[in-house]
Amino acid sequence: MKNIIKEESMLKRSMKMLLGLLMGIEIQEKYGGSESTFFSSILVIEELAKVDPSVAVVCDIQNTLINTLLMKCGTEEQKRKYLPQLAKNMVGSFCLSEVDSGSDAFSLKTRAEKHKDYYVISGSKMWISNADFAGIFLVMANANPSAGYRGITCFIVDKGSEGLQVGKKENKLGIRASSTCVVNFDNVKVPESNILGQLGHGYKYAIGMLNEGRIGIAAQMLGLAQGCFDSTIPYLKQRVQFGKRIYDFQGMQHQISQVATQLEAARLLTYNAARLKEAGRPFIKEACMAKYYTSEIAAKTSAKCIEWMGGVGFTKDFPVEKYYRDCKIGSIYEGTSNIQLNTIAKLIDQGF
Ligand SMILES: Cc1cc2nc3c(=O)[nH]c(=O)nc-3n(C[C@H](O)[C@H](O)[C@H](O)COP(=O)(O)OP(=O)(O)OC[C@H]3O[C@@H](n4cnc5c(N)ncnc54)[C@H](O)[C@@H]3O)c2cc1C
Repeated sequence: MKNIIKEESMLKRSMKMLLGLLMGIEIQEKYGGSESTFFSSILVIEELAKVDPSVAVVCDIQNTLINTLLMKCGTEEQKRKYLPQLAKNMVGSFCLSEVDSGSDAFSLKTRAEKHKDYYVISGSKMWISNADFAGIFLVMANANPSAGYRGITCFIVDKGSEGLQVGKKENKLGIRASSTCVVNFDNVKVPESNILGQLGHGYKYAIGMLNEGRIGIAAQMLGLAQGCFDSTIPYLKQRVQFGKRIYDFQGMQHQISQVATQLEAARLLTYNAARLKEAGRPFIKEACMAKYYTSEIAAKTSAKCIEWMGGVGFTKDFPVEKYYRDCKIGSIYEGTSNIQLNTIAKLIDQGF
């Protein structure tokens, strides 16, 4: 409990710092953002994750999913209303997953029923990051179930909307400072003007955002692994056994060198995917590879760091056990590792 409170108050402090500085990295200056690049977002996520992967994922979702979707698909009115707040003092949540639709995301059951000039959204979203403190929710709901996934539409839903209820925070293994909640929509009335992009195009937007977002998760896992490695090496240089520094045993040096090499490979995969995306070239296979590989390397690095530190690595007195818990999410959200491997194989089959 003490640790949860510690992690949460750390997040609150970091959030204040993040808002207004790092939460609108690509948003144009005219809307109050930094008007920087996707690559900059990736570097920021990596750097934050070196210290706390929970803070990094708040920044990641805001910059690679929420802001991007609004910038790409928003009307001028929507941009003027939401982007300045997102750049300054408001967090957004991306609501796709449901209890029965995770990997099979487009089998979602949340419905949007059309009335005169508004829609009524009913359903329940699960695992929604940042929901606890979000000011807006980008909600995927099916407005035309007879058209199957082609009925899925993205709606902007404001926090105070009647019928919107955020459930309790999930009690998670890792990234505990990041809130993950059920969000219920009980006949939530949303004006037609809050449709983001085109009616029935929500599935395209979700795929597009998650393809880019995966590079953000790769950056989170990369930063986590590097942060864990960096906080372990000084201990190995100072701890003495058999009259020698732990670092000086060749058996240790070979393992350290292998992990350092894999970290560098993970960094190059991530940066390459970001570079391709920014250059407008095909990047989906490379993004999947980067997310898959960095999550594997984060798991391997944090497991090794605990072993290298011996008993103290297993305690909460040092940060490595937290990195070990935090890394597991990398192979689950924004498409599990199996889903990344499915996509890579499909694209190779198609000649990419
Ligand atoms: C902490 C956290 C934060 C999250 N944040 C968000 C968020 O902000 N917004 C949001 O919309 N969602 C979010 N999610 C949901 C997340 O994206 C899903 O959990 C993820 O997509 C997996 O879905 P699932 O949990 O239903 O697993 P399932 O889809 O049930 O998968 C279970 C297992 O089956 C495997 N599997 C499934 N289908 C296949 C297949 N075709 N081939 C091979 N293997 C397969 C999977 O790889 C996995 O190992 C979050 C989840 C967590 C845990």
